[in-house]
Amino acid sequence: RLYNEVQELKGNIRVYCRIRPFLPGENVKQTTIEYIGDNGELLIANPSKQGKDVQRMFKFNKVFGPAASQEEVFLDIQPLVRSVLDGYNVCIFAYGQTGSGKTYTMTGPHSATEKEWGVNYRALNDLFHISWNRKDAYVYEVGVQMVEIYNEQVRDLLASDGTQKKYPFLHIPLVPSIPSMLYSFVTEIYDFKFNQTHVIPASMWYRLYLLFPFNLHTLGILSNSLPNGLAVPDASMLPVKSTSDVLELMNIGLSNRAVGATALNERSSRSHSIVTVHVRGMDLKTGATLRGSLHLVDLAGSERVDRSEVTGDRLKEAQHINKSLSALGDVIYALSQKSAHVPYRNSKLTQVLQSSLGGHAKTLMFVQINPDIGSYSETLSTLKFAERVS
Ligand code: ADP
Ligand code: MG
Repeated sequence: RLYNEVQELKGNIRVYCRIRPFLPGENVKQTTIEYIGDNGELLIANPSKQGKDVQRMFKFNKVFGPAASQEEVFLDIQPLVRSVLDGYNVCIFAYGQTGSGKTYTMTGPHSATEKEWGVNYRALNDLFHISWNRKDAYVYEVGVQMVEIYNEQVRDLLASDGTQKKYPFLHIPLVPSIPSMLYSFVTEIYDFKFNQTHVIPASMWYRLYLLFPFNLHTLGILSNSLPNGLAVPDASMLPVKSTSDVLELMNIGLSNRAVGATALNERSSRSHSIVTVHVRGMDLKTGATLRGSLHLVDLAGSERVDRSEVTGDRLKEAQHINKSLSALGDVIYALSQKSAHVPYRNSKLTQVLQSSLGGHAKTLMFVQINPDIGSYSETLSTLKFAERVS
């Protein structure tokens, strides 16, 4: 009871914990995980030490154990993702040390099968499908940006060939194919004449729109610019109209991220990657428009770096990561306390995410845990970070 009330007071911030399984070939010795409760309890322990303080209990909105599938995780967050179509700004993070499953949760394993798809693929695909299902009542546009924040610099992951060339919104007309749209359009015009109705059916508007998106923009039916503050300035925006678009743009983003990784040695674990989905919808009956956004964030590894062991670039990286993760913690903490001042300006990460943190925005954090006993101290500091913000 009390717990539920506390959660309600804290409003739109939810914290989920996900424990990854031991991997094939991993030397399974002992686990830090003692107990996972049905109501979000997690008991961890450090069995190598004996004593009274070895066990610690944490409480989350939910805990996903090692056997939880990608589908199970997504089904839980699906309503949150879909609220974007109703005009909400939503932010989903994965936080944890390198190797704890952040990328697995957000994207999936390297060359994932559909079953292994992470939140990114599933969310984009779901939004696209729902917008398609609602096409008789609404016109939705879905555009995607992907950026990486490394050493407080924002890099566009959807820029072609690493250049900063911009794709205009709705640049590429996509499926359904032009001939099939023309065909259905002509059949509708025929029906329209035949039935002698004088109201243009919504589905016809939609086909018109798919065929001539720019015309609707020119006519001012849909405005051509995205809402201020929601889009990452100067980052490419790609339209999504099908599952194949989703796959294609995820590939572009991931391969651009990989280029950085080779050059800078595992850079992906030392940068934050942000997929932003912008949705713009128009109610075909009333003409009312709404906008929502979804930020999907794979954070840099939270592991503490031993200052005595690193110098130069590596130390600078570590300091930037440390600074931005604590800035994020401070922002979420301020929001959970309903504090009047929310310190968004302290890092690039919180600046980029400002529109989807606080206000009416909804925030979900996945706290990722490596079950291995060797990770105990990192696990503890991850859980303490989560405890502060939840
Ligand atoms: P991070 O992004 O936090 O560094 P990864 O997502 O790369 O961690 O996960 C580390 C390894 O564990 C990868 O090989 C990944 O495929 C695997 N892994 C992580 N979570 C799971 C899971 N829930 N089920 C199966 N394998 C997982
Ligand atoms: Mg990763």
